[in-house]
Amino acid sequence: MKRSEFDALLFANARRRGATTLENIQVIDAAFGAAGERASVTARDATGATLQFRPRYVLDASGRDTFLAGRLRVKDMNKYNNTAAVYAHFRGVTRRDGELEGYISIHLAEDGWFWLIPLQDGLMSIGFVGNQSAWKGRPKGNGGTPEEMLLARIAGSPTVAARAAGAEMVSEVFSTGNYSYRARQGYGDGYLMIGDAFGFVDPMFSTGVLMAMTAGELGAEAAHAWLDNPARGQVLASRTNQEMGRAMDRIGWLIYRINDPVMRSLFMAPRNTLWMRDGIINMLAGNLHGDLRAVVPILSFKAMFHTLSALHRWGFGPAMPEALPATAPMALAAE
Ligand SMILES: Cc1cc2nc3c(=O)[nH]c(=O)nc-3n(C[C@H](O)[C@H](O)[C@H](O)COP(=O)(O)OP(=O)(O)OC[C@H]3O[C@@H](n4cnc5c(N)ncnc54)[C@H](O)[C@@H]3O)c2cc1C
Repeated sequence: MKRSEFDALLFANARRRGATTLENIQVIDAAFGAAGERASVTARDATGATLQFRPRYVLDASGRDTFLAGRLRVKDMNKYNNTAAVYAHFRGVTRRDGELEGYISIHLAEDGWFWLIPLQDGLMSIGFVGNQSAWKGRPKGNGGTPEEMLLARIAGSPTVAARAAGAEMVSEVFSTGNYSYRARQGYGDGYLMIGDAFGFVDPMFSTGVLMAMTAGELGAEAAHAWLDNPARGQVLASRTNQEMGRAMDRIGWLIYRINDPVMRSLFMAPRNTLWMRDGIINMLAGNLHGDLRAVVPILSFKAMFHTLSALHRWGFGPAMPEALPATAPMALAAE
């Protein structure tokens, strides 16, 4: 479903469950005093009027605006995932057959990847995420607008172009750069950063919303604990950052290697030896907590990947059928 509709649903639910909700308010300043003091948060409403709040605890869920991480200068860009994305909604894109109709497709390219996400009302979100070489040398004037770049990338991919043949673009083209980052320190006396406000990992596996919701749950526990016992609240805030950081590492580990032939082959012919397939699906389906059931299969998968990669470097090991850039959509699918 469309993100705006999903967000409106969550927002209405929070209000129904008793949260005081304010809309069209932009936080413009936040100051934290000595330990134990309330924060001072300044905001502006739609009329331009200034509002002042004195909360006991601040959860920063400002998304990629990274309100606190930016102000506190604790935001580290991820140099291994220096990518940018262009995307838009289209009508008339061919869907996959049968029960795969509603599945997301990922198409790999040498310098990036595409997503095709089916939406309601016959719409399809198509996006291209490219590393630096994908955007290098693009003209500044004609040919270099986000729309031109997206259309050129689609035209340049035989499999995406085939599905988009005859489709009509029905939204503006969005673009976003400086893709992946993380706050070095995402909590402190009286505050905690959650969701994209804490960190962002490439959305190849559509994990961002689940991660933000998991961070929301953990963050609520930390805030709740803080109100009774700040020391306990700090422990839970630190745990929230650590768990989310580790989840990002696990997902990032897969993403940064996705164009490796060994990784591609393991993904395209998944086996459930040592529950590896279940573990990967479990993680991508939203179990982002670092419990043993989630972590052990991922460690087995990593061990398998490193062993096969080493064998291949030395000229041994089974053939890797995915040694060339994918020309067909990956068999990866998510509902
Ligand atoms: C190109 C792209 C594609 C993606 N694709 C997927 C996908 O397919 N699946 C998936 O699960 N995830 C995807 N993600 C990731 C996903 O969008 C995010 O991880 C998720 O939205 C994070 O939720 P959040 O609540 O932390 O932040 P957001 O959803 O960004 O919400 C932050 C909110 O804070 C508000 N805000 C910001 N600053 C202030 C301020 N100063 N005062 C008041 N309010 C403020 C914003 O207006 C916004 O409403 C994608 C991200 C990108 C960039």
